[in-house]
Amino acid sequence: MTSLRLGRQQPATVGPGSAGVTVTGLRAGYGRIEVLHGIDLVVPAGSVLALFGPNGAGKSTLLAVVRGQLRPTCGTVTVGGLDAVRTPTERLARAGVCAVPEGRAVFPNLTVREHLRLWTYAGGAGVGEVEAATYERFPRLAERRHQLAGTLSGGEQQMLAISRALVGSPKVLLLDELSTGLAPLVVAELYELVAALAATGMAVLLVEQFVTTALAVATQAAVLVHGRIVREGPPSQVADAALGDYLSG
Ligand code: ATP
Repeated sequence: MTSLRLGRQQPATVGPGSAGVTVTGLRAGYGRIEVLHGIDLVVPAGSVLALFGPNGAGKSTLLAVVRGQLRPTCGTVTVGGLDAVRTPTERLARAGVCAVPEGRAVFPNLTVREHLRLWTYAGGAGVGEVEAATYERFPRLAERRHQLAGTLSGGEQQMLAISRALVGSPKVLLLDELSTGLAPLVVAELYELVAALAATGMAVLLVEQFVTTALAVATQAAVLVHGRIVREGPPSQVADAALGDYLSG
């Protein structure tokens, strides 16, 4: 961990007032069971917040609330300038709040190109532009445009899944365990893209187990344990020996 220069410089033009993600006093759970016990966090536009935590800490639950899929019992959630608690999920998505959920949501029997066309029609964007932008971003998908998604490597499937989220040029990108099952080099490549997207002004909230790689692209980091943020700050401050204790806990 120490050999990497941790964290990127945040662009000077963005600040906490910019439309990213702001969560205040958030409590949420399932039925009577409360999973998140009062969360506060801010992801300004142009920044990457890496969220870590042991299994069952509530990371995916937090992402579900931020993308408007789960209604909290208490607190406020503003995403891309909208109230995520009261705005329907489809409207949040149209306004530029996009997620790449855990696991690669691709159709094994459709080609790369068919996926892009399907998602483009659904999102109302221009087919040619989306294809061109995707192939420029991921040359490997360009080479495999006629290949069935089910026969792509794990990394290529993840590139395709990310491409879906990028069809509508999102303002806020939520990434859940991007690295699952991927080789470290592929993970590093995907996170380079994440850093480049944030540099264009996107707010990125990512949940990750590959701590070192995620910290290298993050501008802020937070550790969630049993539904509470136990540490947060610049990556260099969060990344010390105690981090391992939290994650194994
Ligand atoms: P992991 O790293 O293992 O994916 P996580 O930090 O993302 O874990 P969550 O998936 O948010 O954790 O789960 C937090 C708690 O909420 C867990 O105890 C889990 O069993 C519970 N939980 C998650 N989804 C539901 C659900 N739909 N109904 C009931 N309980 C749920």
